[in-house]
Amino acid sequence: MKGGGVIEAERIIVATNGYTSTLLPRLDVVPARGQVLLTAPIPDLELRGTYHLDEGFYYFREHRGAVLLGGGRNLDIAGETTTEDGLSDRIQQALEQLLRDVILPDQPFTIAQRWSGIMGFGSESKSPIIERVSERVGVAVRLGGMGVAIGIRVARKAVEMMGR
Ligand SMILES: Cc1cc2nc3c(=O)[nH]c(=O)nc-3n(C[C@H](O)[C@H](O)[C@H](O)COP(=O)(O)OP(=O)(O)OC[C@H]3O[C@@H](n4cnc5c(N)ncnc54)[C@H](O)[C@@H]3O)c2cc1C
Repeated sequence: MKGGGVIEAERIIVATNGYTSTLLPRLDVVPARGQVLLTAPIPDLELRGTYHLDEGFYYFREHRGAVLLGGGRNLDIAGETTTEDGLSDRIQQALEQLLRDVILPDQPFTIAQRWSGIMGFGSESKSPIIERVSERVGVAVRLGGMGVAIGIRVARKAVEMMGR
């Protein structure tokens, strides 16, 4: 436990997703950083729905009258293969360029927020890893950038696997 405390348990499930390689390096889980930005609210924004472009490497949608836009990992896969949160000029500039050229042409905007998060991918497989690594330790990791959608199912399977 961070800070040196000790937690005792009969069985545990490691659910560290993109951070798993530091704990269990033999598992095929590759960290993948995703960068996102949010504009300030745009008057009369007409954007509706959710959009993906460039094979899904970019995604955007309206959020409370503003544009939420993420992606651009494909511009620097090596640099974004990291467990460090952070932003890069290259990707943030590409996101802003996309706003200027495609999403909000001729419409002034300012950026209200920028952030990043870490996903867990497989180098080949796209499926989650739900398995026991020892008698009393299981893992439920590699959610492939879909953890909001599939996390509950993955958690249920992991709990069933470890028994009651
Ligand atoms: C930019 C971005 C956009 C996304 N968009 C979508 C989407 O549209 N739809 C979707 O379904 N999913 C999306 N995801 C993916 C989704 O957020 C993840 O799949 C989900 O958060 C995984 O949940 P988790 O609990 O398994 O792992 P995480 O949420 O990553 O939690 C892992 C936790 O483990 C902790 N940890 C790490 N190491 C240790 C350690 N040694 N000891 C103790 N704790 C540790 C971390 O601090 C973290 O809190 C997106 C992710 C990002 C980054």
